[in-house]
Amino acid sequence: MTLDPIHIIGGGMAGSEAAWQCIQQGVPVVLHEMRPTVKTFAHTGQDLAELVCSNSMRGASLMNAVGLLKEELHQAGSVVMRVAHRCRVPAGGALAVDREAFSAEMTALIQAHPGIDVVPGEVTTIPEDRPCILATGPLTADALAADIAQHVGAEHLAYYDAIAPIVSADSIDWDVVWRQSRYDKGTADYVNCPLDRAQYDTFLAAVLEAEKVQSKAFEKAKYFEGCLPFEVMAERGPRTLLYGPMKPVGLTNPRTGKRPHAVVQLRAEDQAATAYNLVGFQSRMKWPAQKEVFRLIPGLEKAEFMRFGAVHRNTFLQAPILLDATMQLNALPGVYVAGQIAGVEGYVESAAGGLLCGILLARRLLDQPAPLPPETTALGGLITHMQRPPVEKAGYQPSNITWAHVPPLPPPAPPEPGQPRPKKMKKRDRYLHMADRALGDLKGWLGDLGIDPTPSPIFIPPSDTLAASDHAKPRSGPVTSEAAP
Ligand SMILES: Cc1cc2nc3c(=O)[nH]c(=O)nc-3n(C[C@H](O)[C@H](O)[C@H](O)COP(=O)(O)OP(=O)(O)OC[C@H]3O[C@@H](n4cnc5c(N)ncnc54)[C@H](O)[C@@H]3O)c2cc1C
Repeated sequence: MTLDPIHIIGGGMAGSEAAWQCIQQGVPVVLHEMRPTVKTFAHTGQDLAELVCSNSMRGASLMNAVGLLKEELHQAGSVVMRVAHRCRVPAGGALAVDREAFSAEMTALIQAHPGIDVVPGEVTTIPEDRPCILATGPLTADALAADIAQHVGAEHLAYYDAIAPIVSADSIDWDVVWRQSRYDKGTADYVNCPLDRAQYDTFLAAVLEAEKVQSKAFEKAKYFEGCLPFEVMAERGPRTLLYGPMKPVGLTNPRTGKRPHAVVQLRAEDQAATAYNLVGFQSRMKWPAQKEVFRLIPGLEKAEFMRFGAVHRNTFLQAPILLDATMQLNALPGVYVAGQIAGVEGYVESAAGGLLCGILLARRLLDQPAPLPPETTALGGLITHMQRPPVEKAGYQPSNITWAHVPPLPPPAPPEPGQPRPKKMKKRDRYLHMADRALGDLKGWLGDLGIDPTPSPIFIPPSDTLAASDHAKPRSGPVTSEAAP
């Protein structure tokens, strides 16, 4: 069967991976890339798949959700992962690459492929040729962004993200916090961390002193009032936060019977409530500062951060409203969106978006089965996040992959009468079991797609890691995955 090519706009992490996957399935590609003719403020070279900032693709261990995502990508035949491993530089437990070697090799592979036609130049409107994939990233050029906004509604295309931190449920001190919605309206969906006056003053002083990420010149003073970094509010006056995200009105601490001086409210990030978002605490503090400052909040002294806050330039769509699960625009059939502009965050997640979009679209064009990845996998978790209604006031926000994007392990069967209560599984073991489950399910999905899994060179099956761990020694009772209440 001769097929018309798929037009892919943007040769970054997502576009390059999508192009490679389409061609592996046998569908030709025209890849449009505007650099070097038109530049962005962050890209400096002219190669495809440029890493614009850090050279790290983050943790490689299967105990990290991003480690699992990388392994899944590798097994699914990701070109980004294959080249990254070849260009690897020492980085402890992370996968970091020689950025120039990485982009050069990606470019050479793609340009040399007879099925991919790389066309230089800026694309200023959504192509009439369908299907097409928009993979123009966080710095999508203005003309195309304006055209997309016109089609989807300007209110559904963001130019900045405002990300609040997420903490794991089992790292919250449940003896300090309580569940209540303001004025007891609706269900008790919020978890409240109370601060007395002295605790608020200490917190505020720490916020004001904390080291912040410096804005790029073009970003200065462009914050929207609805999603200000909370430390900008703190700088406006000592009481501003008390009228903003820390306002205590309508709340009574059941342990004191009084309204606290200030609160920090948390809201569940996933249906199973394994992770909580600090509502309104989008932040530009540096990550170590965030850890230190947020741990001053009563109830969060031992918080484990699954994601830190951020506010930066980022063109992205309100994915849950605009995209179906195959990343196709509901309003424009045949127009697909992949990578950061589709609402994921990070190099690896963007490559994953490109891989999914490329494989599934190409297979549909070839009339072959194209099931979505299982929700237990990290690849499936990315789709879950993109389809989930937003919990943040500022609307849908892009996210790195976290364990909160995949369902928790099922609870163990209740003990037989007279048997001990199951022990709570250690976090490390829980994640390894989740990785084990994911890779098992991935195998079935890859089988359905006719793809032979290729484990990465550093792959250690999670079951082997568990077997080597002390925690796998026989226990007195069964193990449970239960998180905090
Ligand atoms: C300043 C900055 C720093 C970042 N630092 C990190 C980091 O350290 N780690 C991390 O994981 N992520 C980081 N990110 C996020 C990072 O951009 C993404 O993780 C990843 O590069 C997104 O992949 P992508 O393919 O969606 O977009 P990109 O990799 O940006 O690729 C998009 C491509 O589309 C091209 N393009 C844009 N518009 C058009 C057009 N109209 N016509 C034709 N071509 C077009 C661009 O030139 C670019 O090559 C950073 C982002 C920014 C803006």
